[in-house]
Amino acid sequence: MEPDGVTISGWRPRLRAIAAGCRDFVGATARLALDIALPTLCVACRAPVRGEGLCASCWSQVSFIERPYCERLGIPFVYDPGPGLLSMEAIADPPAYGRARAAVRYDDVARAMVHALKYQDRTDLAPVMGRWMARAGTELLADADIVVPVPLHWRRGLARRYNQAAMLATAIGRRADVPVAHDLLKRTRHTEQQVGLSRADRAANVQGAFAVPDAAKASIRGKRVVLVDDVLTSGATTDACARALLRARAAGVDVLVFARVVDRV
Ligand SMILES: [Zn+2]
Repeated sequence: MEPDGVTISGWRPRLRAIAAGCRDFVGATARLALDIALPTLCVACRAPVRGEGLCASCWSQVSFIERPYCERLGIPFVYDPGPGLLSMEAIADPPAYGRARAAVRYDDVARAMVHALKYQDRTDLAPVMGRWMARAGTELLADADIVVPVPLHWRRGLARRYNQAAMLATAIGRRADVPVAHDLLKRTRHTEQQVGLSRADRAANVQGAFAVPDAAKASIRGKRVVLVDDVLTSGATTDACARALLRARAAGVDVLVFARVVDRV
């Protein structure tokens, strides 16, 4: 029976090769369909791209924030002042929230990614951005009971169809295995866009603009919250959100954003 055995063992690899070829074909067809269905341009430089939204050149320019940074605000230090030292900003003007972390500096590439997610329906970027954020916020998420996105006002939500912070929160929650609470924090009034406002005006603009509805207060009480937003500029919005969560007796609020504005690069 040896010849049959040889024949069978000779056919098996060939069958496997044919099956693999079919899988490759199906995979390639699916990828082709995806390429047609999804945008295939780098969000930063518009070069054709495969995969995760950035071309190799723009990817290499992403400015990830790594230690040393202020343990409170996550602002990167240009030199290492030693463990546990805080930035001047954290000492002079401490926020309502505990710790803040950001995945990247808010530069041209980060701005393009945020803009594409926010205004160009590039929801395919959320899992990538969420992955970077989950990595930057590992310590925060390890302590967290729930992840809460900064809410959009419903009027802006209608215009934009989705809340980019909620998409990032979902991606982070899935990654870190922490539940995401979408309806615990509400915008109680429409606020002007923060862009172009001074630091003081930003704070005044969002003061009292967020609240935890009475029905949601029991879900917040005693919980450690990681608040998620796309960009941290002056911190006024996240501070107003943190105050609302703390008023509802959250045990603590940390902040995790995709990008933060850094003066000294
Ligand atoms: Zn590019």
